[in-house]
Amino acid sequence: MSIRTHVLKFDKGDKIFSVGDSANCAYIIEQGRVGLYPLNRQDDRIAELGKGELLGEMGIINNGNRSVSAFAENSVELLVVDREQITSRLKNADPILRGVLEVLLSRIRNMLGGDTPTNNNREVNNTIVTNGMTKIRFEHEMFEALENDEIVNVYQPMVNLSDNAVAGFEALSRWKHPEKGMISPFEFITLAEESDFIVPMGLKIFDSACKQLSIFQNKRSQLRQSQPLFMSINVSPTQLSSNGFLEKIMVITREHKINPADIKIEITESLMVDYKQVKTWIDECSSFGFKLSLDDFGTGHSGFEHLLQLDFDTIKIDQVFVKTIESNPKSLIMLELITQMAKRMNMSIVAEGIEDENSAQILKKLGVDYGQGYYFYKPMNAIEIIKII
Ligand code: C2E
Ligand code: CA
Ligand code: CA
Repeated sequence: MSIRTHVLKFDKGDKIFSVGDSANCAYIIEQGRVGLYPLNRQDDRIAELGKGELLGEMGIINNGNRSVSAFAENSVELLVVDREQITSRLKNADPILRGVLEVLLSRIRNMLGGDTPTNNNREVNNTIVTNGMTKIRFEHEMFEALENDEIVNVYQPMVNLSDNAVAGFEALSRWKHPEKGMISPFEFITLAEESDFIVPMGLKIFDSACKQLSIFQNKRSQLRQSQPLFMSINVSPTQLSSNGFLEKIMVITREHKINPADIKIEITESLMVDYKQVKTWIDECSSFGFKLSLDDFGTGHSGFEHLLQLDFDTIKIDQVFVKTIESNPKSLIMLELITQMAKRMNMSIVAEGIEDENSAQILKKLGVDYGQGYYFYKPMNAIEIIKII
């Protein structure tokens, strides 16, 4: 996906677009006023739009040409909204809502064609604007953040519970925002998912994680410790299903001389809606040697069905079981059974969210292979990781 993030400037009287032009983007008015006219000249103004309003979205929504001409009424600044930023939302929108929107738009088009002055388009605009504008702005910022290397990874070590030695890491992304400081992935990953922006972003995250793993592994081999360190990377179904995903991650691992067997692709159980579709992608990744890890096990609606139908190398038990290990006896029973099940299915098992020694001891006794949590290490930057290897 390509999100163009640029601001266009117009002087008073400049034409922004003409009736009949093909519509390839919309705009958010950042500064100034824009007049809409039925013909290719500044006569019989239909409407005037101002700061914060959306312009030129109609042609994008119903894939048509510009139904009006737009002129700058004074000096104007427009933020370009890429076609995909709107169409990817429409694709995922409720079909009824999409239908209603199309009917509305065609009525507005007819009215415009009939030369009827109307302000209705402003109402439609406002609905779209209020719902989408903050998100669209944030997406622009996210795109720039990626370009400016503000999306960075931190790494949280996973230890072998038998001896507490570092066995591998989970790459966790952060947005180092110049004004807002560190932004949690909870705040931007969902939005990146919505707009498919997760695809280029995920590849960059994957690339940095492989690059760092290669550095970490080299450091470890200097220390002559035999077991290669692994890297877990969170991947969403949108990424898995994107065009050429497997080929691209193969190229990245090769570039950094990483063995795919040292990469664990973490897929969150709650995100896997259609396991039949996910199966094809998972099987492909496995056949190229990547390891697959089922994240947040126990929180989704069909965890056991996923295990039945799909082949994972690792199960990651959700933090909620670890957090309640001492307060709720049922947690312990479930952990025990999940661990036994994982062993019998030849899967390794990771417990995450370990915050105290007692929990770590209990999990070790249960036979859980790896532990991850603040008790051992918090997520750290690469320089800090080098120090603890
Ligand atoms: P997750 O994959 O379940 O990651 C574990 C989260 O638990 C991380 O939060 C981690 O910092 C936190 N954590 C680790 N140990 C402890 C502990 O002992 N106590 C507590 N309370 N929390 C602990 P983080 O880094 O904020 O990530 C949140 C979620 O964002 C991740 O959950 C994952 O679903 C998503 N995410 C993060 N990075 C990426 C990414 O690069 N791609 C994708 N698709 N999703 C990501
Ligand atoms: Ca994870
Ligand atoms: Ca998790």
